[in-house]
Amino acid sequence: MSDKLHIVTIDGPAGGGKSTVARLLAQRLGYTYLDTGAMYRAAAYGCQQAGIDPSDEHGVATMLKNFNIELQPPARAEDDVRVFLNSQEITPFLRSPEIGMMASSVSALPVVREKLTQLQRQIGQQGKIVAEGRDTGTVVFPEAAWKFYLDATTEERARRRVEQLEQRGMQVDRATILQQIIKRDLNDSTRSIAPLKPADDAIVIDSSQMAADDVVKLMLSHISTTG
Ligand code: C5P
Repeated sequence: MSDKLHIVTIDGPAGGGKSTVARLLAQRLGYTYLDTGAMYRAAAYGCQQAGIDPSDEHGVATMLKNFNIELQPPARAEDDVRVFLNSQEITPFLRSPEIGMMASSVSALPVVREKLTQLQRQIGQQGKIVAEGRDTGTVVFPEAAWKFYLDATTEERARRRVEQLEQRGMQVDRATILQQIIKRDLNDSTRSIAPLKPADDAIVIDSSQMAADDVVKLMLSHISTTG
């Protein structure tokens, strides 16, 4: 590990359990949890507020000129990372399925990825980070000491996402969520820039039959044997 950064990356598709696992792992290690998806959701929210189509590269680039985001840890570890856009808190607006779909479109634009990747690397410089997303092990932190790719069957990921949204008080239709997950997986894994895929040196974990705690234990055992 010696010359590698104290960074853990967890990549994988929507609903694979990355957020829950990354949050728990960060707590156990005493590291900072970096939710990169929240940044792409903030970019989608910025487009929504400005009435910009997320595929309009020129419009999105203009929006990004006045796009200053800051992440802050929540008061309770189990809550979402707090996100501020130009000093206004936008956390409660980021978790809807619509913003998730818009984030998937906007995240395919090079101008967005460049800006957010740079910001993520700045945060990573401090070390002791658990970064979670789609390209944290492949592109953002290729030199990370520990890389994981967390997957589960599409049905199980849809089931978890429905449960999560219902816990947040949203009314959702299971079939719609399943379709959105399939569409998001396709967008994320077929885009030309930073597509979703396991890093060559990532440990792939299928969490379909595993509780989050067991995934964390498995990750910790890899970390302690290679740290
Ligand atoms: O993980 P989350 O569902 O919050 O991510 C929302 C969207 O942001 C994803 O569908 C993906 O398109 C995009 N994203 C990305 N790269 C990351 C994190 C998220 O492209 N590192």
